[in-house]
Amino acid sequence: MLTKIDHIGIAVNSLDEAIPFYEKVLGLSCEKVEEVPTQKVKTAFFALGEVHLELLEPMSEDSPIAKFLEKKGPGVHHIAYQSDDVQDQLNQAAKEGCKLINETPVDGAGGKKVAFLHPKSTFGVLSEFCSKS
Ligand code: ZN
Repeated sequence: MLTKIDHIGIAVNSLDEAIPFYEKVLGLSCEKVEEVPTQKVKTAFFALGEVHLELLEPMSEDSPIAKFLEKKGPGVHHIAYQSDDVQDQLNQAAKEGCKLINETPVDGAGGKKVAFLHPKSTFGVLSEFCSKS
C-alpha cells in the first residue's frame, strides 16, 4: 500500500550550482548530500513538510541521470511513492501489466529500498516506490 509521496526527484547538471537556488531563493536547508552508487548519482535532499526534494547529479556518463539530462535537460525526473512493502507493490504493478525497471528493490539513498516503474507504463511519469527507511 502506498502511504504518501516521499519525494520528487529533480535532475540537475551540478548540485553545487542548484543547491543555492533551493537554499537562498526557496529558503530550504540541505539535509544531506549522498552518493548512490547503484543509481550512479549524487543526491541532495531538502525537506518540505512531509515531502522531500531530491536533486540528482550524475556521477558518470553512463548514469541514467546523464542520459536524461542529455535528452531533456534539467527538470523534474521522477515522483517517489512511499510504500509499506515495495516488493508487493512491484508484484501488484506487474500483475496489472505495468512494465518494471526493477523487478526487485535496490538500495537507494538514505538506506531505503527503491524500485522504478517504466515511464512507458505510467503515462510519462517515471515512478519510484520506496520503503520507509
Ligand atoms: Zn528518488
